[in-house]
This record gives sequence, structure tokens and C-alpha cells, in this order.
Amino acid sequence: MKELNLDHSPKSVPCNECPAGNMHIRHITYFTWLGEELVTVPNFPAWVCDMCGKREYDQSAISWLSMLLNPEAGRSTRRYKRTRQPVPRKRNIPPLMLD
Ligand SMILES: [Zn+2]
Repeated sequence: MKELNLDHSPKSVPCNECPAGNMHIRHITYFTWLGEELVTVPNFPAWVCDMCGKREYDQSAISWLSMLLNPEAGRSTRRYKRTRQPVPRKRNIPPLMLD
């Protein structure tokens, strides 16, 4: 799995919800719904305010995650080698009666 590189991010940013707070990177478990499937991402970076507790997910991490979760991502570049689709196994299906 590709590792997140957050070295370019500042260590803390002023909170936009309260005047005195600063938001720091914390690693939390991120929950998101993918269709009908609940996806949990442990150690997900998020900005958490030390005053009001406001939580904001890191934007680069969010885009990284959506790349992982969205099978359509990167398709427009056409540089990705399309992996061969597995042939769906059909079992116990009677042959077509063409007679
Ligand atoms: Zn705050």
C-alpha cells in the first residue's frame, strides 16, 4: 500500500472554528460508506483542534483515499494497464436449449 507523505504539511494550523485553537495532525480511524459497504481506515490523518475539538480530514489524505476507493480513478489517463477481468464463474446453470 502506498504510504502517505505528509511531510509537506505544517505541524499545526489555526482553527477556523474558534479564535484560540490550533489544529494538529492526529491519526484516527476514518469511516466512510462505499456503496453499501462501511469502509474503515485506521491511522487516518486528520486535523483536530486542541480547543474545540473540531475535526477536519487532511485533504491530501482524502484524495489519496478516494483514489484507492474509486475504481474509475486514473482511467482517464489510460496509462494503467487494465487487469484482466476475472471470468465470472457460473455454476449449476443448465446449458441453453437451442434445439
Ligand atoms: Zn477550534
